[in-house]
Amino acid sequence: MQCEICGKEGKLLKVRIEGVLLSVCEDCAKFGEVVREKKKRKEEKVLEMNPELPKILRRLRGKKKQEEFAREVNIPVSLLRKWELGDLVMDIKNAKKLEKRFGIKALVEKEIPCVKVKGKMKEKLTLGDVVELKE
Ligand SMILES: [Zn+2]
Repeated sequence: MQCEICGKEGKLLKVRIEGVLLSVCEDCAKFGEVVREKKKRKEEKVLEMNPELPKILRRLRGKKKQEEFAREVNIPVSLLRKWELGDLVMDIKNAKKLEKRFGIKALVEKEIPCVKVKGKMKEKLTLGDVVELKE
């Protein structure tokens, strides 16, 4: 890699100069603002529906009818029916609403390797990274 300003090879810094991100050498870095690169994470956390949610919903509903409970929480009964059966994954918005209201755990955090999430990161991976991930 060469400095995008003077062409010198060596250690490069990511610098924002007049709004443009450039990779420049330490000498040229003084022309702009150094951008700190985020640490590369191998794991990405995503929110996923709690697999226990259908059970939790049925427990929350108790002896109430589905129609009754759905009206109470302001969701279409057709959705509730599917959620209780586990036929449909609850969307995050509704899941958060229920979490807030009932103090249940509707969503769980799941760690997945970045390579599966971001296509962009995959391109940047070197062979070493791939081997490391498989360990
Ligand atoms: Zn330079």
